[in-house]
Amino acid sequence: RPSPSPARSRAATDNGGSADSCRVRVAVRLRPNNSEDLAHGSDFDSCVELQPESKRLKLKKNNWSCESYKFDEVFSENASQKRVYEVVAKPVVESVLEGYNGTVMAYGQTGTGKTYTVGRLGKDDPSERGIMVRALEHILSSMSFETDRVAISYLQLYLESVQDLLAPEKTNIPIVEDAKTGEVSLPGAAIVEIKDLEHVFHLLQIGEANRHAANTKMNTESSRSHAILIIHLQRSSRIKEEKSSLSNDMHDIFPDDLPLVLKSKLLIVDLAGSERIDKSGSEGHMIEEAKFINLSLTSLGKCINALAENSPHIPTRDSKLTRIFRDSFGGTARTSLVVTIGPSSRHYSETSSTIMFGQRAMKVVNTIKLKEE
Ligand code: ADP
Repeated sequence: RPSPSPARSRAATDNGGSADSCRVRVAVRLRPNNSEDLAHGSDFDSCVELQPESKRLKLKKNNWSCESYKFDEVFSENASQKRVYEVVAKPVVESVLEGYNGTVMAYGQTGTGKTYTVGRLGKDDPSERGIMVRALEHILSSMSFETDRVAISYLQLYLESVQDLLAPEKTNIPIVEDAKTGEVSLPGAAIVEIKDLEHVFHLLQIGEANRHAANTKMNTESSRSHAILIIHLQRSSRIKEEKSSLSNDMHDIFPDDLPLVLKSKLLIVDLAGSERIDKSGSEGHMIEEAKFINLSLTSLGKCINALAENSPHIPTRDSKLTRIFRDSFGGTARTSLVVTIGPSSRHYSETSSTIMFGQRAMKVVNTIKLKEE
């Protein structure tokens, strides 16, 4: 008898076909020139050239040296928010609607468009909406209100402390992993059920305001913390649909009184800026910040490398960021990464390091195991 599962596991063929479809998907998004880029000389010097047909990006170090990199998608400065959602997040959301866990994250230097890509609300202009709002819109329109439930938690991870952006008095929230199921939870964090899009805007606005207030109090910038939206989904309707498609003898496996609920979650993460902080010019809390951001992004990179190498040990315990990801990254969970870059050659080395991070992530093939019943 199958038990209600926290998030389901299936054979690779059920989860969209080949192992390649389970690899971490990586897209690059180029931000348009901004006034700061243009202020540095009338002859704006870009170090990036995109080749959308071949999904390649050329990075020019100088007149003599240029490297070319292949991604799953390259988005030019004209790419719409809708297109970015459809390529980067929609397949993950669809998989979450089927009962799997998933993660979508944005990585890059501060000012390259992570928050624009992920967190833009676009309340009055739907074309501006980022991945968080679009994912919730998509989920709300796909679920049955009689049988399904969707709720969110919205958190910030700063100096290895998890803070609740929906209930700011809650800080230092623990991260707990169920020893049996591997399910990760954050006891004490608010989980607010959502009914409609207005409610989504309301909560995300509260989260944004609390993030701003908390960061002002701590005398830091939002770009120095990771913002994590967790969408919790519970669906009974899918089980009913699946049951009705089964043959009669299979029906006995799912007796009518068994409250089978499909539970899954989607993490949407706006990572802290990946730029190196010049420690020599920094003092006090900025050095602490740099240390913790380096720790979490380095540990994320290590997990990505371990997954890419199919290593049996994924070192998720090294940082709080990767501990939160533990059940939503690798395995049967689908993961998409969008790396954001600016065009200016002044930031060549940051852009290059962002691109290398994305290239390492491209190699990840999630190993799909059949669930033991
Ligand atoms: P980050 O979160 O990486 O620090 P932001 O998302 O705050 O960067 O973007 C920095 C600025 O650039 C913002 O004013 C944002 O509106 C703008 N911006 C970023 N990406 C785009 C884009 N693709 N199209 C238009 N404006 C963008």
